[in-house]
Amino acid sequence: MKLLDDLELGLKQLQEKSLQRRRRTAESPCAPLVTVDGRDMLAFCSNDYLGLAAHPQVVEALREGASLYGAGSGASHLVSGHSRAHAQLEERLAEFMAPQLERARAVYFCTGYMANLSLLTALGGADAVIFSEGVNHASLIDGCRLARAQVQVYPHGDVDALEKMLAASSARTKLVVTDSVFSMDGDIAPLPQLLALCERHDAWLVVDDAHGFGVLGEHGRGALEHFGLRSPNLVYMGTLGKAAGVGGAFVAAHETVIEWLVQRARPYIYTTAAAPALAHALLASLDIIGGTEGDARRVQLRALIGQLDATLTLERWNRLPSITAIQPVVIGSNQEALDAAAALHEQGLWVPAIRPPTVPADTARLRVTLSASHTVEQVARLAHALNALEKTT
Ligand SMILES: *Cc1c(COP(=O)(O)O)cnc(C)c1O
Repeated sequence: MKLLDDLELGLKQLQEKSLQRRRRTAESPCAPLVTVDGRDMLAFCSNDYLGLAAHPQVVEALREGASLYGAGSGASHLVSGHSRAHAQLEERLAEFMAPQLERARAVYFCTGYMANLSLLTALGGADAVIFSEGVNHASLIDGCRLARAQVQVYPHGDVDALEKMLAASSARTKLVVTDSVFSMDGDIAPLPQLLALCERHDAWLVVDDAHGFGVLGEHGRGALEHFGLRSPNLVYMGTLGKAAGVGGAFVAAHETVIEWLVQRARPYIYTTAAAPALAHALLASLDIIGGTEGDARRVQLRALIGQLDATLTLERWNRLPSITAIQPVVIGSNQEALDAAAALHEQGLWVPAIRPPTVPADTARLRVTLSASHTVEQVARLAHALNALEKTT
């Protein structure tokens, strides 16, 4: 059949370019030590930066949430699926983010992907221009595609180029959209400069803090706290399946922005609300993130990042400078990156090889991610393995 032949040809081409992906099946909770495809491995690949995904208090809260609210929400938020757990979570998130945002309110989404689609389609109407950072996450790119706004892409980190574009635009609504921590490079956007530009040009600054929330800032309030930013121009998106260890995402902003999203964002309105038990579990995560245990976990994570930095001695492979939990080692060719990941796998180390289209051509890499639940010994084992592997390949 012709339709199937086309797909099979496409799949074969992926294989020839070393671009075929495969899923590994984990048989244990997300943690540094995992059982994958029947094998015990030491993992450096999750985004569970604070080690909350299998934290006993969070797991217990999930169980409690299921007994309080059942398994499913049964409907979308605007029909009957909005539960007390969702409402409590939104209140807590707004309180938590209040130091960085004026008249903060928050709304909870099933996923960060949907939060981004919601934001960009609801704020980026036909009279808007979206100025989108060059290496934004796929969910922001897809949000731009779905929005009716015109989209202009500015080069990665190039504040001057953005300023010219903003100055040249006469659009009624302007949105600057950026990742805070770039998910494949681990670098951080120049948010203070971007915010200053947005305030000067009367534009929204939409910040996707998927990798910053819970991790950056003294109290875990993410990239805004890291830079000490507060502004009515800010629209903040944080995900809750990474450092928060559960799932879903939220947008926090001025209450008027949030009310607009609730009224107008189609990916929010036309989907079943996430299980209330998830929101209930997230209340426990937030307790940890905002408390002394969160502080201790952030200190531990920073120490491990410093340790990796001090002990890797790579010469040929390119370590990107990163103060975040994302510590990429750029190798270049797809096949070489795959071979390196396979060699590490042989030694019981699980580090994913990331290839195009997730990253630009010829920048295939090992994407090492650290978590507060790793130990000093585990990070030492990784550094030793990477140093040795680079010399022998
Ligand atoms: C993971 C991620 C998302 C999507 O969040 P999900 O909750 O996983 O859908 C959005 N933006 C960035 C930068 C991410 O890394």
